[in-house]
Amino acid sequence: MSDNGTGVVIAESSTPLPEGVSLPIYMDNHATTPLDPRVLDAMMPYLTGIFGNAASRNHSFGWEAEKAVEHAREQVAKLIGATSKEIIFTSGATESNNLALKGIAEMYRERGNHIITQVTEHKAVLDTCKKLEKQGYRVTYLPVKADGLIDLEDLKRAVDDQTILVSIMYASNEIGVIQPVREIGAFCHEKGILFHSDAVQAVGKIPVDVQKDNIDVLSLSGHKIYGPKGVGALYVRRRNPRVQISEQINGGGHERGMRSGTLNVPGIVGLGAACEIAMNEMEAEAKREQELRDYLKDKLEKALDYVHVNGDMEHHLPGNLNMSFVYVEGESLLMGINDIAVSSGSACTSATLEPSYVLKALGLGDDVAHSSIRFGLGRFNTKAEVDYVSDKIIDVVQKLRELSPLYEMVKEGIDLTKIEWAAH
Ligand SMILES: *Cc1c(COP(=O)(O)O)cnc(C)c1O
Repeated sequence: MSDNGTGVVIAESSTPLPEGVSLPIYMDNHATTPLDPRVLDAMMPYLTGIFGNAASRNHSFGWEAEKAVEHAREQVAKLIGATSKEIIFTSGATESNNLALKGIAEMYRERGNHIITQVTEHKAVLDTCKKLEKQGYRVTYLPVKADGLIDLEDLKRAVDDQTILVSIMYASNEIGVIQPVREIGAFCHEKGILFHSDAVQAVGKIPVDVQKDNIDVLSLSGHKIYGPKGVGALYVRRRNPRVQISEQINGGGHERGMRSGTLNVPGIVGLGAACEIAMNEMEAEAKREQELRDYLKDKLEKALDYVHVNGDMEHHLPGNLNMSFVYVEGESLLMGINDIAVSSGSACTSATLEPSYVLKALGLGDDVAHSSIRFGLGRFNTKAEVDYVSDKIIDVVQKLRELSPLYEMVKEGIDLTKIEWAAH
């Protein structure tokens, strides 16, 4: 143990580095993923020689770029069971979510002013909803159960004759739970309400099919599926029902008028390539990641007491594990594992550490939320890395608990769990 001068005790560990593992280890694939080298290969020509503007209609530079864009549009569409005309390219899923919510709210204003979403959405949905509330829309934020899933009965009760849109994410970026999207979509269609899903974490990781899943509008992002940053797409259904979206960026009328601006051709080519790779490799990769994830989970659970997995594990992304290490101070835990890139249950907002709003929505107390870690396993993580990460965490958690008066009391038989969890 050492004191780094700030009064925060850092647990020093001597966890051996397995062969083939180099530090730091990246295990934060929900935040972003590295570019797949095959995606870079596909993009390279469009960053160099093939530089045309896809909107240039009278020379081969433009035609070549346009051809590449249309090929990518097909690759994206195919991955989610859509047709290429239903794909709008954007700058990423933040823009896709904004376009979906604002574009539908504006277009269907005559029909109603009520939108339903849920409390653990990504900020790109929540903050857009807040903005819409300021403009006179009503938004219902459904709660989630302790397992992170919404209750369909809550959704059914929230609908009224003014409801125009339901926006529920496919899978959580934080706790990995997969919402009952198909049932939500079926219910919305029955009621004649549009259904948008932020499917950033699901697309390319688990099967997503806009037909089977009854989705009308769907957001996805390149950099969460081993493609480049700054590119994404919005699926907009054209039949049964035909969804109309009011454009939020005006200009040259690109993307069927729904999103003006010169297309990011290399980015779009990269997104297309990333989708095709995901399509071909998803099944095997999901199995591999889930095995690694379960191995990590089992190892931590066997070695440590008072650990707690967040989010329903049955409806869960293969590469996600969100775990709370009770009786460990969150900041010290993170410092102790500073050669591993993971996310904590704390969000930095204006220089203060706020407990994650997602974990709080599950009923976790502030301390437990702070001592939680999100592991995001991805395509390039290996078993050797999982071994290093688990050994290191076990070592650090054990050392920190030796210093924890609460943990000492628990060991002496005073049942603190009731106190600790009283806030739930
Ligand atoms: C990353 C992410 C976003 C934002 O996507 P960008 O392309 O980075 O704007 C939106 N929703 C979810 C669930 C995400 O994980």
